Amino acid sequence: MIEGKLSIRAKAIKPSSTLAINKKASELIAAGEKIINLSVGEPDFDTPDFIKDSAVRSIREGFTKYTDSSGIRPLRQAICDKLKNDNGLNYDPDQIVVSCGAKHSLFNIFLAICDAGDEIIIPAPYWVSYPEMVKIAGGIPVICNYQSNFKIAIDHLKSIITNKTKAIILNSPSNPTGIVYSKKELEEIAEIACENKILVISDEVYEKLVYGGTKHISIASLNQEIKQLTIVVNGVSKTYAMTGWRIGYLAAALPVAKAVANIQSQITSNPTSFAQKAALTAISSDQSEAEKMVAEFEKRRNYIIENISPLITCCKPDGAFYILIKIGNMTSAELAQRLLQEEKIATVPGDDFGAQGFVRISFATSMDNIKEVITRVNRFAEKNK
Ligand code: PMP
Ligand code: GLU
Repeated sequence: MIEGKLSIRAKAIKPSSTLAINKKASELIAAGEKIINLSVGEPDFDTPDFIKDSAVRSIREGFTKYTDSSGIRPLRQAICDKLKNDNGLNYDPDQIVVSCGAKHSLFNIFLAICDAGDEIIIPAPYWVSYPEMVKIAGGIPVICNYQSNFKIAIDHLKSIITNKTKAIILNSPSNPTGIVYSKKELEEIAEIACENKILVISDEVYEKLVYGGTKHISIASLNQEIKQLTIVVNGVSKTYAMTGWRIGYLAAALPVAKAVANIQSQITSNPTSFAQKAALTAISSDQSEAEKMVAEFEKRRNYIIENISPLITCCKPDGAFYILIKIGNMTSAELAQRLLQEEKIATVPGDDFGAQGFVRISFATSMDNIKEVITRVNRFAEKNK
């Protein structure tokens, strides 16, 4: 009877599989099972002490009240400085909205741009939350096919643009594939967006996690025309090991930023005051702690690509901290289930990312775990060849 009271919207939404599998794996570990949890994507490092200290200091100083609902101005200014220095992008603090994680920024965007039936193009493989967020906002997720290197199949992209298309999501470096788009590839996508006057939602949360000399380029930096159409999304979760602090942000043309600011002012108000202070410290201080974490991720990624069995299908990640793997002809669900049961490794089935037959492994875990995992998946591949 109570179920009947739920909205059609609520009933249509799947729970986040990354978070659900992480919960299940954590419960099994707490119950004494010796499982290596490679499901959730969050840095295994602790938030650096100087960042924590700045939050503690701000609490002690009484910085515990509502702030400007779009985020404190010094933080928005620091984000503008970061976007200028790192990405060559000029924004004004009024074009920045700080939210409770990049996830929240993304959802605000869909609320701000989707009318019922508007289409948002999501290139597969995609982060699990994009389609569900679009649906909650009343939009229609339209999935774009990928090529063998996991990048956008450009011909397919061109063929699915309609007069209902509002935006395309671009996630480089990508979760779950780790691919990073080159300048030339971004130019091609930008040209299509400009020609068709569609927005680009550029999710750059993994921008600092790039390896082997790979460079992250923000599509917004290519020219003024594409900058106007692009909404840049970023946050502190991945770069500074701050997933629990819940601070993300967007930068956009003024009308979009204003619409998002209005929505946020009616729904959550500001993100947590002292978490904003911590984010300000993280973004505006010396970056060497963050760089050390990246160097560690790179070592792990190198170990994986050097030691993974040739019997396993995978694509070398140039960024982020994930690798998609495929073994034999199993479905994603079967592969994830058997890896859990037979090898005690928790992964996320690729189906939820639009990557059938694959499972996602996160290498945001210790080198010891990674060595053990590679031994186990290689053994599993050998048994199932
Ligand atoms: N975008 C991508 C691609 C992600 O993997 C995540 C996962 N956390 C987010 C956005 C959201 O990050 P957060 O809300 O922690 O800033
Ligand atoms: N983005 C991370 C992941 O894909 C964290 C969990 C989530 O928010 O989905 O695992």
